[in-house]
Amino acid sequence: MSHISTPPKSTAADVAAMHEVYRAGGEERAMAPHVIYQDAECPHPGCHQHMQAIDFRLEAHGRAIHDSLVRAWWADTGFAGQCPACHGWIHFTIRGKRAVTADEAVKLPRLPDTWFEEAVVL
Ligand SMILES: [Zn+2]
Repeated sequence: MSHISTPPKSTAADVAAMHEVYRAGGEERAMAPHVIYQDAECPHPGCHQHMQAIDFRLEAHGRAIHDSLVRAWWADTGFAGQCPACHGWIHFTIRGKRAVTADEAVKLPRLPDTWFEEAVVL
């Protein structure tokens, strides 16, 4: 008698657990934030600035900025930066990017104004 087991589908709890393993590993090693988002464009309506895969290259902004933003990234706080095309603020996190207002952005760790010049964005 054979027994065939099918792999269980990922539940939301599994995805959350996987995210936590990934986040904790990155935090432990203080890895440089690289991310590939599902959404290819700037999250502000009507803006078609392409930004899907991002290597923020935070080291280009000096140790203090690098260290605080790397900590914020892996703590799941993320950080805010301005879109180079529409100048709207974007909140970048491990799992997504969203449009935020300037008022919301001031409450978040922020990328330097020149972040887009230093980052590799595909
Ligand atoms: Zn934009």
